[in-house]
Amino acid sequence: MGDTVKYVLDEERIPKAWYNIAADLPEPPPPPLHPGTLKPLGPDDLAPIFPMSIIAQEVSTERWIEIPDPVREIYRQWRPSPLFRARRLERALDTPARIYYKYEGAGPAGSHKINTSVPQAFYNREAGVRKLSTETGAGQWGSSLALAGAMFGLEVQVFMVKVSYHQKPYRRALMETYGATCIASPSDRTQSGRAILASHPDSTGSLGIAISEAVEVAATSDDTKYALGSVLNHVLLHQTVIGEESIAQMEMAGDQPDVIIGCTGGGSNFAGLVFPWLRGRMAGGAGPRVIAVEPVSCPTLTKGRYAYDFGDTAHLTPLVKMHTLGSTFVPPGFHAGGLRYHGMAPMLSHVHQLGLLEARAYHQNECFEAGVRFARSEGIVPAPESTHAIKAAIDEALRCKAEGRAETILFNLSGHGHFDMQAYSDYFAGKLVDQPLDEGALDEALAGLPVVG
Ligand SMILES: *Cc1c(COP(=O)(O)O)cnc(C)c1O
Repeated sequence: MGDTVKYVLDEERIPKAWYNIAADLPEPPPPPLHPGTLKPLGPDDLAPIFPMSIIAQEVSTERWIEIPDPVREIYRQWRPSPLFRARRLERALDTPARIYYKYEGAGPAGSHKINTSVPQAFYNREAGVRKLSTETGAGQWGSSLALAGAMFGLEVQVFMVKVSYHQKPYRRALMETYGATCIASPSDRTQSGRAILASHPDSTGSLGIAISEAVEVAATSDDTKYALGSVLNHVLLHQTVIGEESIAQMEMAGDQPDVIIGCTGGGSNFAGLVFPWLRGRMAGGAGPRVIAVEPVSCPTLTKGRYAYDFGDTAHLTPLVKMHTLGSTFVPPGFHAGGLRYHGMAPMLSHVHQLGLLEARAYHQNECFEAGVRFARSEGIVPAPESTHAIKAAIDEALRCKAEGRAETILFNLSGHGHFDMQAYSDYFAGKLVDQPLDEGALDEALAGLPVVG
C-alpha cells in the first residue's frame, strides 16, 4: 500500500439527511429553562433570536432531518470530505495501530464550521431575515458565517473575542473579505459590553461575553437574528454529515474504529463525528470507545459541574443543563481560541452522563508538539484546536504499541491552522505558557451558578 491512502466518496454520497441523536437516546436530556420563570422553554421563547425552522430542529426528536437541496448543492464544493489513513504518522510512531482522520479543513473557510453556517444562513434567508449577529472565538465561526452570509445575501456582524481579535488579525481580514463586520468584544456597542468594560476595562473577552453582545443585538433589532456556531442541538445535528460520511468511508477501507477521538470546545465537531457511530451502542450493541479532548485551562468535561447554567456572561440566554465552569469563568488567553467556552453542548453533556464517552485534558505545548509531528508526517498544519485530537490519537497509538495491539483509531481533523501561524511561531520560540487551571477562579465561578429547584 502506498504512502497516501485516501478514501473519497462520490458526490451523490453526500448525506441526504442529518442524524438526530435525540431519537435514539435511552432518556431525553433535561429541558432548557426560561431564565425568568425557570419553566421549560417553549418554542416561542426563542422566536426573537432564531427563525422557526431552526427552533423546530432544536427541539426535534425525528431521527432523520432532510438536508435541503440548496444546502447540499453548496456542500458539494468540499463534501464528501476526504478520509485519510495516516500511514507516515503510523510509521513515525512505529505503532501497530491504524490511524485514520477525517479532514474538515478543505472547505473554503478552513474548518468544519461551514457545515452549519450554510444551513443556518439558508433557513434565515428563507424566513426573510436580513442580518445575522454572532460571536467568534478564534475566528473560524465568524469567517464561516461571513461566507455563508455572502452566499445567501445576508449581512453579518461578528463580535470577536478581544484576545483573538489581536492574536489573529488575518481571520478578521478574511471575515471582512467575505463582507462581514467584525467588532472586538467586549465592545461599547452593547449594554452587555459596556457593563463588562466598566468593571474590567482590560478584559480580553470571552465567548460568553461575545455571545451576550451578539444575542443582545438580535433581541433588540427587528431585522436581525442570532446564529451560534456550536453548543446547540441544531448545530450538532448539521455536523453529523461528518460522521455519516466517515461510516461509509471506513466501510470502503474495510476497517472499523476501536477508538474515535475529537477535540471539544462547544462539542460540535466531536458530536458530528461521534453521534452517528453511537447509534449501534444505544441500540444495545457494541461500539467504539469515544474520547473527547479539551484544554487543561478550560476543562469543561473533566472539571466542570453538570448543572443548569447560562450560555453567556450577561445572562441573556436560556438556562441549559450542561458541563460548565460557570458563566463568569474567563479562561486564560491560550491559542486554541475555539476551545475557550465555559460550557459544553447540553446534548453532549447528557451523552457523557449516560456513560457513552470518555474525556481527557491536555496542556497546549504538548498539543502543539503533536501538531508539529503530524504536520511533518502528514503535511497538513492543524488548527490549534485540532492538535488536541491529534495528541490523544498519538497517545492512543503509543498505548497500542506498548500493549502490542493493532487497534483502529479514527479522529477528526476539524480544521487547518493557516491563520494560526503566529501560534506556531510562538510555540517554536518557547513563548507558549502551560497555564494550570485557576482553581480559585473556578470555585468562584461555580459558586455563582444559578439556583434551580
Ligand atoms: C470552533 C472549532 C473547534 C471547537 O468547536 P466545537 O464546536 O467543539 O467543534 C474545533 N476545531 C476547530 C478547527 C474549530 O474551528
